[in-house]
Amino acid sequence: MNIEQHIQNLRRELRDHNYNYYVLDNPTVSDYDFDIKLKELQELETKHPEFFDANSPTQRVGGAITKNFETIVHEHRMYSLDNSYSKEDLQDWETRIKKLVDGDIQYTCELKYDGASISLTYENGLLTKAVTRGDGFQGDNVTANIKTIKSVPLQLKGDYLPKFDIRGEIVLPFDGFNKMNEERIELGEEPYRNPRNTASGSLKLQDSAEVAKRPLECLLYNLTGSNLGIRTQYESLEKARQWGFKVPDAAKLVNSIEEVLEFVEYWNVHRHDLPYETDGVVIKVNNLQQQEELGYTAKAPRWAMAYKFKAEQVSTKLNSITYQVGRTGAITPVANLEPVELAGTTVKRASLHNADQIEKLDIRVGDEVFVEKGGEIIPKIIAVDFAKRDSNSNPTLYITNCPECNTELIRQEGEAQHYCPNYNGCNPQIIGRIQHFISRKAMDIEGLGGETVALLVNEGLINNYSDLYELTKEQVMPLERMAEKSADNLVFGIDASKKIPFERVLFALGIRFVGETVAKKLAKHYKSIDVIATASEEDLVNVDEIGIKIAQSVLSFFKEEQNMLILNRLKQFGVQLEMSADQLIGQTNILQGQSIVVTGVFESISRNDLKKLIEDNGGKVSSSISSKTSYIVAGTNMGPSKKQKAEKLNISILNEYEFLQKIQ
Ligand code: AMP
Ligand code: ZN
Repeated sequence: MNIEQHIQNLRRELRDHNYNYYVLDNPTVSDYDFDIKLKELQELETKHPEFFDANSPTQRVGGAITKNFETIVHEHRMYSLDNSYSKEDLQDWETRIKKLVDGDIQYTCELKYDGASISLTYENGLLTKAVTRGDGFQGDNVTANIKTIKSVPLQLKGDYLPKFDIRGEIVLPFDGFNKMNEERIELGEEPYRNPRNTASGSLKLQDSAEVAKRPLECLLYNLTGSNLGIRTQYESLEKARQWGFKVPDAAKLVNSIEEVLEFVEYWNVHRHDLPYETDGVVIKVNNLQQQEELGYTAKAPRWAMAYKFKAEQVSTKLNSITYQVGRTGAITPVANLEPVELAGTTVKRASLHNADQIEKLDIRVGDEVFVEKGGEIIPKIIAVDFAKRDSNSNPTLYITNCPECNTELIRQEGEAQHYCPNYNGCNPQIIGRIQHFISRKAMDIEGLGGETVALLVNEGLINNYSDLYELTKEQVMPLERMAEKSADNLVFGIDASKKIPFERVLFALGIRFVGETVAKKLAKHYKSIDVIATASEEDLVNVDEIGIKIAQSVLSFFKEEQNMLILNRLKQFGVQLEMSADQLIGQTNILQGQSIVVTGVFESISRNDLKKLIEDNGGKVSSSISSKTSYIVAGTNMGPSKKQKAEKLNISILNEYEFLQKIQ
C-alpha cells in the first residue's frame, strides 16, 4: 500500500470513530487506540505535506489563530423566531397560517436548544464555511473554531447534496460546562455563568486550540438552499442524520395543535433529563412548499413558532427608579433592583416601560417585587408583593421634567410614552440621533463608534449629523484614545458614507416612525428628499403602508427649519438625497395601485424575483386573496381552495409568462 492510501485509510477510520463517539454517543474503540492512530496520522502528514487536507481529522486539534473575524453576508438570511406562550397563541397561529395555505398542515416539533446559532456550508461533501448568526444578515466567519467541534462533520457520508447550508446550535452540555468550571475554580479563576454565554463566547476565541479544549457540541435543525429536492422538514432532518450530522431525535411529526401541546407537556417535564439547556419547543410547518407560500415577516418565518417553557421567577427589592432619555426623546423608566440570580444571570435592572405600567403595577421604591425572565434579554417585573409592603410607602410620582435638560415633558394623546420636546437641545437626543445616523443599517460609518460620537458632541465638535462631514483629522486627533490611524479611519469612513444610497440615508435621518421598511417605501415612491419634503399629508397616506401617524411625523420633521438647514448641508457635502440613476433602472409605475397575489411554483423566475419585479414596477404584493386583489400570478401547484376563492371573487389568474409580458 502506498503512503497516500495509508493516509486516506487512517483518515477514514478516524472519521468513523469520531462519528461513532460524538454523533452516535457509541464509541467502538478505546480512547487510547484512537490517540495512537491519530498520532500516526499526524506524523505521516508532517512528513508528507503534499497530502495535506484541511478537512483531515488531525485539523480538529486547532491551532489556527484568528485576529479579526471576517464578516460574511448570509446567502439566506438567518431569521429569529416568533414566540408563543399559550395554547391560544398556538391556535391563533394556526388560524392565521390556514388562511394563507391550502390543505392540511402537519408540524415538526423540535426542542429549542439554548446556545449560539451557526450556519454551516458544505460543498461536495466538505465543510467550507461556518458563520455565526450575527445580525441575521451577516455574521462572523468562525470556520477555524467550528472545525474543532467533533460532532461537526468535516466530510459527509452517504448520498449528500452537492451544495447546501445547514443551520444549528452550538451548545455546551451541562457536564462539560461543570467540568470547565471546576478547573477554573481550581485555578482560582471566576467560574463561567451559564452554558449558553460560554458556548457563544467560545466561537469568538482567537485561538482555535482553546476552542478545541471545550466540550462543545453542534445540534442541527434546518437545511437551507435552493433546489434541495426535499419535500418536508422532517425528511430534511432524516437526510441530515444520514449524512453524519448530529440531529437530536426528540423531533416528532404531528398532525394537530393538540399533539403539539402534548409534545410541549412531555418535554416541559423531561427536558430536565437532557444533557443540554433547552428553553422551549420549535414548531415548524412540515411541508416545504407550504413553508415557501407562508414566507417571512420582517423578523421571522411565518411557518415556524417557538413555544417558550414557562419562565423562571424570583423576588427581590426595588431600590430606585431612574429615567432614561432615548434618541427620539422618549422617556423610559428603569427599575434598579437588588441584584438577584435568575436563570443563570445576575439581574440588576428591569424596564418599567411607561407611566401607565408603573401605575398598573402600583410599584413603589422599597417594594419587594417578582421578576421574571422569559426569552427576552431584559427581565420583566410581573407584580408587587403587597403583603411585604411598608405601611409608610408612598405612591410613585412620575417625573414631570426631563432628567437631562429639565424641559417639561409632554405626552401626546393615545401614546403611552412621555417625551422630552427639546429636540435640538437635549443631549441624549442629540447624541442618540447621531449614533443612529452612523449605525450599521443606516450610514454604516466605519471607524466611528457610539462612544466617540458622545465625545465629539460633549467636546462641542459636532451638534448634528451634518457636522460630521466637516470634521478634520486635526480636530479629532486630540480626543481621548484617538491615534493618527484611527483619526484617519474616522474621516475616511465619514467620507465613504456619501455613497450610501438614498433609502438608507432617509432611514438614517431618524424621523420618528420611519424605520428601514418605511424609508424604503418612501424612497421608492418619491425618489428624492425634495419631493418628500413637499408632500402633503393626504399624498403621504396614499403611499402603500404609510399611515396617518407616520405621515404626520414626516410632515413635522420637514416643518422644522433646523432640519431643513441640516438637509441642505448634507446635500452640499454630497450625501445621496435622491435615487441614483442606477437605482432608477427597471423602476416603473406600470403596476401602480395594483394588489397582486403570487402563488405556486415558477419555472423561469424565482418567487422572490417575481415579487421584486412587482414592487419595482410600482405594484403591491399581497399574501392573501381578497376582493381588493387585482389579479393572481400563479405557477404550478396552485392550491384548490385558492383557485376556488379566485373564481368566487371573479379574479383573473395569469401564468408567469403572461405576467412578464404585461410588464415587458
Ligand atoms: P430567538 O433567538 O429567540 O429569536 O430564537 C431563534 C433561535 O432559536 C434561532 O436562531 C436558533 O439559534 C435557535 N434554535 C434552537 N433550536 C432550534 C430549532 N430546533 N429550530 C430552529 N431554531 C432553533
Ligand atoms: Zn431633555
